[in-house]
Amino acid sequence: MRILLVEDELDLGKAIKRILHQHGYVVDWVEDGTAAWCYLDDNQTEYNLGIFDWLLPGLSGIELLKRLRSHNDNLPVLMLTAKDSIDDRVAGLDAGADDYLVKPFGMRELLARLRALQRRSPNLTPQRLQVGDLVLDYATNQVWNEDQTAAKQEITLTLKEFQLLEYFMRHPHQILTREQLLAQLWEWDTEPVSNVVAAQIRLLRRKLSQQGYEDVIETVYGLGYRFSPENITSQ
Ligand code: CA
Repeated sequence: MRILLVEDELDLGKAIKRILHQHGYVVDWVEDGTAAWCYLDDNQTEYNLGIFDWLLPGLSGIELLKRLRSHNDNLPVLMLTAKDSIDDRVAGLDAGADDYLVKPFGMRELLARLRALQRRSPNLTPQRLQVGDLVLDYATNQVWNEDQTAAKQEITLTLKEFQLLEYFMRHPHQILTREQLLAQLWEWDTEPVSNVVAAQIRLLRRKLSQQGYEDVIETVYGLGYRFSPENITSQ
């Protein structure tokens, strides 16, 4: 899950980014609406959710939202605002916001709203993602091997391994290039070393194969990697 966070209050932006990280989200955080539009307009990165503050330098959150909707982009967006009149709520929802959170708010509520948005949107990941007997649980950030004949066994993954596996599970049979994985799973403000994708995949494969999932992530030489669920269901 990749989120675009647009928030110009530095302390709040930092706090939100930190908590979202801890819960497994990949977060790009920008501080003004114009920069946010550049991120949204770039086709290399696919966002799953947006969190837009209302009052921003450059484009306001509402203007950003309107521009997004006028491009037929259905990205689920949660608006953050200090505005709390009925008129403001209506304006936000009319502009195409999917939900609305009034400042100050607790991080637990923010996380719950994001989970609710994930559940509501048909093109978003459900709360559980299952391929074969491999289960990814978004509520707990855990991965299970839910073998019918065995007690369910947890596979302990780091956040990055979890994000990587999620992305593979959501794009089965597709060849994913190293550049694509970098663009989707590593934030723009990090400077990953050149072999970081290969290194993470190696770690993920080792953990999966310890649970009997050999060869689910195949290397397609010269091209990239492919998640092959048939190698799970034949277990
Ligand atoms: Ca603001």
